Amino acid sequence: MGGTAFRTGKPSLSNDVVNDPRAQPWLPLVKKAGLSACAVFPLFVDCKPVAVMYFFFGGADRLDDEMIILMGRIVENVSFGLDVLKHDAERTAAEMHKERFARQLAALGATNEAITRATTREELFRRVCEAAVLGGNFASTIIALARSDSELLEVVAVAGPGRDSILDIRLSTHAHLPEGQGITGIAMRTRQPCISNDYLADFANNSLFHKRATARAIMSGAALPLMHGGEAFGALLFLSRERNTFTLELTQLLQRLADNVAFALENFDRADAKMLADQRIEYLASHDSLTDLPNRESFNQLLHFAIESARRQERKLAVLFIDLDRFKIINDSLGHDAGDRLLTEIGGRLRRSVRACDVVARLGGDEFVIILEDVAGREDVEGVARGLLRCLSEPIQLNGHECHVTASIGVAIYPLDGADIQSLTGNADTAMYLVKGDCKDGFRFFSRDARIQPIERLTMETNLRHAVERNELLLHYQPKVNLITSEVTGVEALLRWRHPDGTMVSPGDFIPLAEETGLIVPIGRWVLVEACLQNMAWQHEGARPVSMAVNLSPRQFVDERLFQDIDEALAVSGMSPSLLQLEVTESMVMQNVARAVRVLDAIENRGIHIAIDDFGTGYSSMSLMKQFPIDTIKIDRSFVRDLAHDLEDQAIAQAIISMGKALGMTVVAEGVETVEQQAFLRGHACDEMQGYLFSKPVPPGGITELLLPPCAVSPPLQPQAYGAHSPSGGRPEASAATGR
Ligand code: C2E
Ligand code: MG
Ligand code: MG
Repeated sequence: MGGTAFRTGKPSLSNDVVNDPRAQPWLPLVKKAGLSACAVFPLFVDCKPVAVMYFFFGGADRLDDEMIILMGRIVENVSFGLDVLKHDAERTAAEMHKERFARQLAALGATNEAITRATTREELFRRVCEAAVLGGNFASTIIALARSDSELLEVVAVAGPGRDSILDIRLSTHAHLPEGQGITGIAMRTRQPCISNDYLADFANNSLFHKRATARAIMSGAALPLMHGGEAFGALLFLSRERNTFTLELTQLLQRLADNVAFALENFDRADAKMLADQRIEYLASHDSLTDLPNRESFNQLLHFAIESARRQERKLAVLFIDLDRFKIINDSLGHDAGDRLLTEIGGRLRRSVRACDVVARLGGDEFVIILEDVAGREDVEGVARGLLRCLSEPIQLNGHECHVTASIGVAIYPLDGADIQSLTGNADTAMYLVKGDCKDGFRFFSRDARIQPIERLTMETNLRHAVERNELLLHYQPKVNLITSEVTGVEALLRWRHPDGTMVSPGDFIPLAEETGLIVPIGRWVLVEACLQNMAWQHEGARPVSMAVNLSPRQFVDERLFQDIDEALAVSGMSPSLLQLEVTESMVMQNVARAVRVLDAIENRGIHIAIDDFGTGYSSMSLMKQFPIDTIKIDRSFVRDLAHDLEDQAIAQAIISMGKALGMTVVAEGVETVEQQAFLRGHACDEMQGYLFSKPVPPGGITELLLPPCAVSPPLQPQAYGAHSPSGGRPEASAATGR
């Protein structure tokens, strides 16, 4: 009977229980209790039967209509009681849940800690795990912010309430997406929270929206605008499968959360900007801004790491010290912009000539350095060095000039030549200097003998100072001859240093040092006086007057006392200014054209001649030379050397000759050593030549006989005549440079 009542939801009644088939299973009990009638009523909660209630009658009692109605009332009351009890419990649970949810949101609203960011999916996963751990029993909900439609660029994970209460939290910045047309679009446009507690009804007119919401059983939703500077740049969307979820209080909490998300995103952007700025600063501090190569500081660091790793793996590494030859000339004559472009180009070439794992750095000026890790031996490095020289030798176009750059490379190998930064770089540097001293444009490995060099340099400087005091300097003279008449037209004074140990030091070895230390100014002053005196001495011996060429150094050229020195030399010697020729180089005049014009004009006004020395190496142009009062140009030896067979050199020499002559200048070829060179020059109407073919630079005595008229008897070359013309010679008026 109970089962029937429960199943049918209707009362089961019986006035003869003993004979009722529904009570047969319990007949012994019915008899024992003396029951006569029974009524079973279902109990309902939420309109569903949840239990049944039994009424039993004994003796003569029978069920009648009045009794049935009364029992029905009792059952209704019990059902109502059960219903109330159940709903009370449910309400309590719901309220507890809501309160917990509100607390969580309040916590989120009050702090940004829970908002974190990931830029890759892996990172996002890690972040969510971290958030879950940090948040304890909070479920993590992820907010993904896509900066473009297809890409997930930035992800915000919010440790927040679980999916049981809020189905989905999403962040949208797309007012144009289907979502954007709906709830988030409204929130962004109105800049106000948009709440829908009956989602399907509210968005029934948006078919796509409606379909999605139905598919996901979304009942309610809230979109909160993400604000920045009064504008909504996105919205935070909360979707729920429950109705009436979003109360005013909850909405306020969510808006606070949205504000925090907006703030966090802004902070992420700020952090990004700062990180970029920091990276830039770090980059600038460690890189050379011109070539973008690591600078000296980072080179030192990189070399330190390379040495450490070579030590651990018991491998070799090589440090290549690279210094451009003649960079100063290009820089001075073509200007600093061209110099910068050249350095950038060279940096790029070096970078491209080695493996990606090798370090190429610029130490400053025209000094570059390369670290080759894990080299097998010298042959390896030799190959690389040759490759570097080859790639550097490719011509570079600068301001319409084709420039040829060469470099000197010094190599030191770890652990052979040093086991620390200082000794490796120092030794590579030393080896590089040796290349410079040789002929440049080459490479050299460091050797123990090479190490003496820098010390020698210092000694040399001291010795050079003494050389001036001790009258160890002297002049040799090299004649210039007319290519047609073979007549000596003049001589060039070339400085020599007779070292106390007896060796003759060539100017190439000590003039750069004298220039660097400033010693060249007093030395040059002495040369001027000595050369003029010598020319007059030859005349006194009966020689015909010839032109005396004296080289001026860059330092002298800008020296304020230059004119005074020249005037004094002429006055002391009594030589005619017209016999003096001062040799300057292109780079000296190109450095400051306006100033050079002034200086050269002042020289010319004294009746002194001017020659441009080493012409063709300094990237100046003939048209520029026109501005200067130049009498003579001397074609550099490098163009003369291969003149017999090099077509390019022939063309250059020819061009210099014809342009020089067109400008009314005398053209002299330097370094003529062979008859073939001489023939070519003669054939192309070059005026004069100077070179070993006719005569090497010789002591003054060697010149005398060249200048005496044919009838005069040549005086024998006296050994002491050599010394007589040195600064230590007997003529008090030709006192040594420092003595003046
Ligand atoms: P420079 O003025 O161009 O002098 C010509 C150089 O070429 C000299 O070298 C000379 O010996 C060398 N030379 C001449 N003919 C030949 C030849 O046929 N073959 C070869 N291979 N070489 C030849 P030097 O005397 O060693 O002088 C080198 C440079 O030192 C000079 O080049 C000049 O720039 C500088 N110099 C020499 N004396 C002085 C001086 O008194 N003052 C200054 N400031 N510089 C000087
Ligand atoms: Mg010269
Ligand atoms: Mg020269």
